Formats: sequence, C-alpha cells, structure tokens
Amino acid sequence: MPKRNEFEQKALQFIINNGCQGVLQSELWRKLGGSSREGSRIALKLEDKGLIRREKELCNGRWTYRLYPKRLPASIDSISDCPCLMCPESSRCGSASDISPQNCEKLTEWLLFLTENESSELGDS
Ligand code: SF4
Repeated sequence: MPKRNEFEQKALQFIINNGCQGVLQSELWRKLGGSSREGSRIALKLEDKGLIRREKELCNGRWTYRLYPKRLPASIDSISDCPCLMCPESSRCGSASDISPQNCEKLTEWLLFLTENESSELGDS
C-alpha cells in the first residue's frame, strides 16, 4: 500500500481528473486500493487543506460523499476567448502606456466573467 502522502497525492489527482462531475468517495478508494477508513481520513484532510469539497450523496441506499476539486488546472481553452489575443491595441498595450491591462474594460469584464463562472461551476457561494 502507498505511503499516506503518496496516497493523498494520488487521491487528489484522481479527484481533479474527474473535474466538475466529482467522484464518489467509495469509488475513489476502490480505484486506489485503500480502506474506506483511511479514505475518509484523507478526504477530510484534503478538505481541511481547502483542496476539495465534499457533498453528501445517497448511493445504492447508503450515504457517502461526492468529492470535488476546489481548483482545476488551467488549460489552453481557458484563455481562448481572452480579449488580448485578438486585440488591435495589443502592440501599444503595456504598463508604461495609456492603454494597459490595469485600465482595460474588456480585460476586466472578461476576468469578472471567468470568476463568476468558476464560482458557479465549483459550487462556491
Ligand atoms: S489589456 Fe485590453 S487593451 Fe491591452 S491587449 Fe488586452 S484587451 Fe487589448
């Protein structure tokens, strides 16, 4: 059986790989080959560290938890609609210029949209 830290890392990676659909706690321990007691301890630890959230779920007449990642890794898709990529002002845009990311409405709107979207996908309130 893997060491606890290694087990924790594998568990977190598995949860992240399942993305927004989450993974049942019972299913996770079966896949990783651990006991449900150890699994519960690690899920609580990951939750305490702010890396995952747990939601109670009834599955086949038994209560378990569905585990969701708090953060997902960035992908190239996540910036595909960034306004800077097609911006006609990009060559003049910079911190020493009148046109800059610090005062750009298009960039601010896009970032706010991303933040709102991420919060609703991860179930943050
Ligand atoms: S920050 Fe604004 S002005 Fe600058 S490149 Fe991005 S969209 Fe264009």
